Amino acid sequence: MTRAAVIGAGTMGNGIAHVFAQHGWEVALVDSAAGALDKATATIRGNLDRQVKKGTIPAEAPGEILARVKTGTSLDAAAGADLVVEAASENPSVKFAIFEQLDRIAPPGAILATNTSSISITEIAARTRRPEQVIGMHFMNPVPVMQLVEVIRGHTTSDATTASVMETARTLGKVPVEVHDYPGFVANRVLMPMINEAIFCVMEGVATPESIDTVMKLGMAHPMGPLALADFIGLDVCLAILDVLHRGLGDDKYRACPLLRRMVAAGQLGRKTGRGFYGYDSGKGTG
Ligand code: NAD
Repeated sequence: MTRAAVIGAGTMGNGIAHVFAQHGWEVALVDSAAGALDKATATIRGNLDRQVKKGTIPAEAPGEILARVKTGTSLDAAAGADLVVEAASENPSVKFAIFEQLDRIAPPGAILATNTSSISITEIAARTRRPEQVIGMHFMNPVPVMQLVEVIRGHTTSDATTASVMETARTLGKVPVEVHDYPGFVANRVLMPMINEAIFCVMEGVATPESIDTVMKLGMAHPMGPLALADFIGLDVCLAILDVLHRGLGDDKYRACPLLRRMVAAGQLGRKTGRGFYGYDSGKGTG
C-alpha cells in the first residue's frame, strides 16, 4: 500500500497527511472547506521546517514531502487510494455520509479507517458494504510527535484489515495498540474520568486548578496536569466524549461534572477560546 487519502484537513488531518507523506506515501488530502486545505498546507510546511531545524529530516525533505500531498475538495480523490483515513468533524451524521460515499468511490480492496475519538466503529462500518475493511485508526494530537495509534476493531473488522493497519502504523514510525470497539475505546475511557474527577475537585473547592495539576504532575509524573490537558483538548470535546461514555456504558460514574457543563455553556472551551481552567490571552496559562 502506498497511496492514502485523508478526509478532513483540520488539526488531525494535516498531521496525518504529514506523517504518511513523510514516509513515502502519495497522499490525497480532502476537505469540504477550501480554506482548511490552504491552512493545512501551511501548517505541514511549518512543522516540516521545524523538523529540519531540529535535524530530524534533511533540508531538501520538506519540498519532496509536500510534493506528495495533493489537496482537493472532492471525495473522488479517494478513487486511487489503498487506505483512506477519515479525520473530518466529530459528528456521526457527517461521518456516516462520508463513509457511504467512500464505499462507492474507493477501490474494492481499499481499507476505510476513521480517526474518530468516540463514535462507534461498528456503526460507521455498517454504513458500508465492506464492514470487514472498516477500522479505527486513532492518532493522537500532535500527530507528527505522538507515538501512539489506537487501532480499533469494529464488531466485523477482519483479522487481515487489522494486521494491515497495525503494520502500516509501524511503518509510519508509530506504536499501534489493538483495542476493541466499546465507547471511548481505551484512551478516552481512562483519560476522561480522570479529567472529570479533577473538575469535580475544582467545583467542590478541594483545591485550585493549579494545585490539582501540580499534584498530578509532581505526584504521578504526568507531563501535563488534567485541567491543562482538558483546556488543550477543548472542554466541549471533553463533555461530548463523557456524554458518549455515560450513554454508551449506561453507568453514572461517567456523569459529566456540572461545572464542565456550565463552562461549555458559557463558551469557556479552553485554549481555543482563550479561557478555560486557565487564561490564554498572552499565549500561556495565566490561571
Ligand atoms: P477539526 O475541526 O480541526 O477538522 C475537521 C475538518 O473536517 C474541518 O477542516 C472541516 O472542514 C472538515 N470537514 C467537515 N465535514 C467534512 C466533509 N463532509 N468532507 C470533508 N471534510 C469535512 O477537527 P479535528 O480536531 O482535526 O478532529 C478530526 C477527527 O479527529 C475527529 O473525529 C476527532 O474526534 C478526531 N480526533 C481529534 C483529536 C484532537 O485532539 N483534535 C485527537 C484524536 C482524534
